[in-house]
Amino acid sequence: MENKYSRLSVDLSGRVAIVTGASRGIGKAVALALAENGAKVACVATSQERLVGTVEEIRALGAEAEPFACNVGVTAEVQSVVETVIEKWGKVDILVNNAGITRDTMLATMKDEDWDAVIQTNLRGVFLFTRACIVPMMQKRYGRIVNVSSVSGLIGNPGQANYSASKAGVIGFTNTVAREYAKRKITANVVAPGFISTDMTAVLNEMILTEAKKRIPLNRVGEPGDIADAVLFLASEAASYITGQVIPVDGGMTA
Ligand code: NAP
Repeated sequence: MENKYSRLSVDLSGRVAIVTGASRGIGKAVALALAENGAKVACVATSQERLVGTVEEIRALGAEAEPFACNVGVTAEVQSVVETVIEKWGKVDILVNNAGITRDTMLATMKDEDWDAVIQTNLRGVFLFTRACIVPMMQKRYGRIVNVSSVSGLIGNPGQANYSASKAGVIGFTNTVAREYAKRKITANVVAPGFISTDMTAVLNEMILTEAKKRIPLNRVGEPGDIADAVLFLASEAASYITGQVIPVDGGMTA
């Protein structure tokens, strides 16, 4: 049968995945792609209600999914998700740290709260979930960690000093995790999306959108599925010799 949510076909049967920010946009596309290829998926967002759509779509595929309300920046909530997943499914094979927010403004007007909120979700959230999953992964001598960064973390973007710092931080963090746990057969990689059509970019005005499109050599805005396919590849057996890498999926923006 042809896949509906992914252009790759990989075998993730028996695998257990956690995807943060799975209620919408890129995270939802990733959760569906992993489930369609056989994984059981723990879907994380700020409330269970917001995850109903994702979980129902996954179950309609005949795959298993559970919704988890969790603020990725809060240690106890993260720990509780990972413990519950292990109680239910016995392990965590794949962790996709995708939850993210923006609080865009130029540096001169950036408030402390704008900085702290973005770092808390985008960087601390990645740290907390990865730390909570690393011992269970070490015990199984298997792990695929895929962190969602951004081209802003690679080349910066006016109005996003907080966001760029968080996303560059995710890259440094991932490289260290890759080096620390390679011996345990745990890989850690980054996907760096360019301009993707989701709620996050829907709030931008027409002028910013037009300017952004001019910077995309492939001449189109990306879709969540473009990112999901890259994540799926990195989560699969086919990527077992890839670790500590950043794959920009950006239509050539950083070429
Ligand atoms: P989105 O549509 O705004 O969705 C964000 C997701 O993150 C939602 O599921 C949201 O859950 C979740 N989330 C936010 N804060 C959270 C928190 N504290 N705890 C738990 N979940 C939280 O964003 P998107 O465009 O799909 O972006 C996904 C990732 O890709 C982000 O890391 C973003 O920075 C990155 N990215 C996006 C683009 C782009 O152009 N769209 C480009 C580069 C990188 P709720 O529904 O509960 O709020």
